[in-house]
Amino acid sequence: MTPDELQRAAADHLLLHFSKQRLDDLLVLERGEGPYVFDTRGRRYVDALSSLFCAQLGYSYGAELGAAVTEQLTRLPFNTNWATAHPPAIELAERLTGLAPPGLTRAFFTNGGSEAVEAAWKLVREHYLAIGQPRRTKAIARNIAYHGVTLGALAFTGVARFKDDFGPPPIDVTHVSNTNAFRAPDGADPAAFCARLLAEVEAAVVAAGPDEVALIIAEPVQNAGGCLTPPPGYWRGLRDIADRYGILLLADEVITGCGRLGEWFGSAREGVTPDLVTLAKGITAAYLPMGAVLATDRVVRPLDGRVFRHGITFGGHPASAAVALRTIDIVARDGVLENVRALEPYLRDRLGELLALPIVGDVRGAGFFWAIELVKDGANGRFDQAERDALLRGYLPGRLLEAGLIARADDRGDAVLQIAPPLISDHAVLDEIVGGLRDVLTDAG
Ligand code: PLP
Repeated sequence: MTPDELQRAAADHLLLHFSKQRLDDLLVLERGEGPYVFDTRGRRYVDALSSLFCAQLGYSYGAELGAAVTEQLTRLPFNTNWATAHPPAIELAERLTGLAPPGLTRAFFTNGGSEAVEAAWKLVREHYLAIGQPRRTKAIARNIAYHGVTLGALAFTGVARFKDDFGPPPIDVTHVSNTNAFRAPDGADPAAFCARLLAEVEAAVVAAGPDEVALIIAEPVQNAGGCLTPPPGYWRGLRDIADRYGILLLADEVITGCGRLGEWFGSAREGVTPDLVTLAKGITAAYLPMGAVLATDRVVRPLDGRVFRHGITFGGHPASAAVALRTIDIVARDGVLENVRALEPYLRDRLGELLALPIVGDVRGAGFFWAIELVKDGANGRFDQAERDALLRGYLPGRLLEAGLIARADDRGDAVLQIAPPLISDHAVLDEIVGGLRDVLTDAG
């Protein structure tokens, strides 16, 4: 199909995810190479968002990962993990739990992140039923956090406009403050900020009824709202609250896992072992779909001899598992985590230079996962709705593409621009990203 035919066919037949339908100028990407993607007219972009935080290795490992797929499809294209299992899923469960914070010994596979969050919730419920605490049916999550869109996962998501059309959520979730320090009155004092946030979590547990709360769910660095890093001690504090009230702690690492923060697991940076971890996106470097729930023995052991009443036909597909295994090998062989750790200070400093621009209020993040908070009038002013729409849906998306950059302008919280480059990016690629952002943001304000 020609580029024009593709545009027309997309408008007529393709339902887009989280997008206005019938876009006249749909970006159609047809090829990738290293950290770059190319549209159907041959235009090159730096994929500064790793295709929605997924493409950890960029786009040049197709031959190697494709060989893993071919090998697996030739041997055993498919079998389930329902009562039977296959070697790639078993090996992957062993490898991933070996990389995870100590104690996370069991893995359940899904096809993506929302399915992982829902599977984790069902595991939590089965755990409490098995230990004779059936009243634990509630959860604590954080404002603006995104944990997926299927109806169960949506209950944890803290973005009202994604939920309001779909009726009451099936899980009773209290949303508490997230860790956005930028506009918080005590944000400049990390200890006070941390203490206030944790007090709010504990108060929410007490208000919900401590013996009715099953789960606290949080991302090590919250994506929505713009790479909200936690103040020091926050995760230790969540762990303490969970332990004090017999609640399970889930680190949703769908974005922060698989090297995005320079570790296999973002929670390792916080020195805390959650009871459960959810993964997806980067687990296969996005060469095939996959998600996972990891859990500790404490969570799973009470289920021994019982049926876990949950299953997904394709969860842990052999080809996806084979790709995930090969991805783990590549990440180790090619020093991918080391690359992120070595370049994190460079990326932080280069993005920090943008603070000199009047439209940039804050730069925050970790690893290869950063946000720039945009402000009005060179002060910490907020844009009104019309200004936000003009900036985030009008000016920025178009100008970023003109600058040859795929990045994310987001308004689930305040106005932010996010980048998350492929983890194989070098100094030159990071410079190209920062240079493009500088041009676009200079013109914006
Ligand atoms: N959890 C987090 C933290 C996410 O960022 C996402 C997706 O962006 C999800 C869950 C849902 O994952 P998926 O889109 O694969 O269902």
